[in-house]
Amino acid sequence: MSIKQLRKLFRWLGISSLICALLYVFTHISAFRVLTLLILGVTGLLIWLFWKCPHCGKGLRYSANGYCPYCGGKLDE
Ligand SMILES: [Zn+2]
Repeated sequence: MSIKQLRKLFRWLGISSLICALLYVFTHISAFRVLTLLILGVTGLLIWLFWKCPHCGKGLRYSANGYCPYCGGKLDE
């Protein structure tokens, strides 16, 4: 999975977890709380498994601005 695909995926996961969290706040249906935690869990798992530099393999920070902070390699390729 490329960094570009991951960014897009994280954006959608972030939006959907936010929607589920808001739905839980307003409706108090516990299924939304479970769903929110599930989405956050999947996001964490994806970060742990795939959010790495394709050049040196080190874990990337959130603020990675297109270049690896360790080896300087370009990420969106
Ligand atoms: Zn690197």
